[in-house]
Parts: sequence; structure tokens; C-alpha cells
Amino acid sequence: MTFKATVLTLYPEMFPGHLGVSLAGRALERGQWAIDAVQIRDFASDKHRSVDDTPAGGGAGMVLKPDVLASAIDSIADDNRPRLLMSPRGKPLSQKRVREIASGDGVVIVCGRFEGVDQRVIEARNLEEVSIGDYILSGGEPAALTLLDAVVRIIPGVMGNDLSGLHESFEGGLLEHPHYTRPQVFEGREIPAVLTSGNHAAIEKWRNAEALKLTRERRPDLLSESQKQQK
Ligand code: SAH
Repeated sequence: MTFKATVLTLYPEMFPGHLGVSLAGRALERGQWAIDAVQIRDFASDKHRSVDDTPAGGGAGMVLKPDVLASAIDSIADDNRPRLLMSPRGKPLSQKRVREIASGDGVVIVCGRFEGVDQRVIEARNLEEVSIGDYILSGGEPAALTLLDAVVRIIPGVMGNDLSGLHESFEGGLLEHPHYTRPQVFEGREIPAVLTSGNHAAIEKWRNAEALKLTRERRPDLLSESQKQQK
């Protein structure tokens, strides 16, 4: 079955965006995944087609109306795809969650705008709030595109070389080792000799050691207790 993404948004023209080019774009053309952007405004019922209203309790900005959003969500076939709401209050997105999503039939993603969405629709439609980081975007669309980018690239057959997805930052619990390519000398800096030695065991050992060193320096929070002890 083809992986199918349905995105609920006030800006459907933002999709597929960058996912329409390069590897993801070619996979989209080949039908290896599909995307459907649904205009939330089409579900507004008043004559002004309004989708937002002032926040209860006062304060700045506007809030996406729960009735309009619920109708938009209910227009989508009730299948077993997870229903996400992009939200800075959500659980931080991880490669683990990306893998889970990529292994399923697809995903439904709600993109917030303004100050966010009415809390009651999050609860009533059981939306899983997902954050892409501790900063505030102006809308959920770039967050949805980011999540889909991470998911689509690991759908079988999408990446040119399926193996290249296996040795990346986070996949082994560590950040990835540094990369080098020709020329042999760049502005006086040489490629580490071991990488051109042809000794595959030594190369593997060097890469693992570099990955551990980088992770210790930059992201010690990723290390397990045993990795912390390792020399
Ligand atoms: N007032 C809200 C922010 C609203 S930003 C707050 O302080 O929590 C408007 C919309 O952008 C949000 O509804 C959400 O859909 C999206 N968004 C903003 N930052 C995001 C992030 N870090 N991760 C995921 N979605 C985000």
C-alpha cells in the first residue's frame, strides 16, 4: 500500500513544497507515496468563511475554531493512520517516531496557525501533538513538511541507495562520524590517512570512535551509561 499523507491547512499551496523535487519528488511522481492537502477554510459554515476567533479570556491573536477544524478532520476517511497536530507544545519529534510513522499506511497532519487551535478539538479528535523543536514558527506547514521529509526519505525505494539510511546520526544512538571526499588535500588539510588505507576494519573502528567523540562533545544526552564509560 502506498504511504498517504493528508495535510489539513489554510495554505494548501505550500504542499508538496520542497517534497516535489529531488528524491522525494521523483518518488511522488512514481507513486511511491502520495500527498493530499485539504483546505480547512472549505469547512467554515458562516458567510464570511471564518476559521478563527478571538481567544476566550482575552489576549493577543486569534484561535482556530474547533467546529471548523473538526468538520475538516471528519471529512477524512477514518482509517488507522495516526492523526498529528504540529505544535510547539508537543512531544519532540524523534527518529524513532519517524520510523514508526514511515512503517505505517500514512499520516494525517493538522497545521496550526495564529495562536494555535482550540483545546477541545485536540481532545475530541485525539490529536497527537508533535513539536519539531523549541522555537516558534508562524504556522504548522513548515513543521509538517519537515516531518514528512524525514518520513518519506526512509520509505522503501525512495532513497537511491537504501543502505545509506542506516548509518546516520541517531540511527545508532550516536551522531555520525565526519565525512571526507576528494581532493586529497584541501587548503592544506588532508583526509585522515586511515580512510584511504583500504583497511575496512580500521576504518570502521575510526568511524565509531569519531562518532562517540562527537556525541560526547555535542550531545552527551544521547549516550547510554555504557557508552559514557567506553574509552
Ligand atoms: N501560541 C503558540 C504558538 C503558535 S505558532 C504557543 O506559544 O505555543 C502557530 C502554529 O505554528 C502552531 O499552532 C503550530 O501548528 C505551528 N508551530 C509553531 N512552532 C512549532 C514547532 N516548534 N513545532 C511544530 N509546530 C509548530
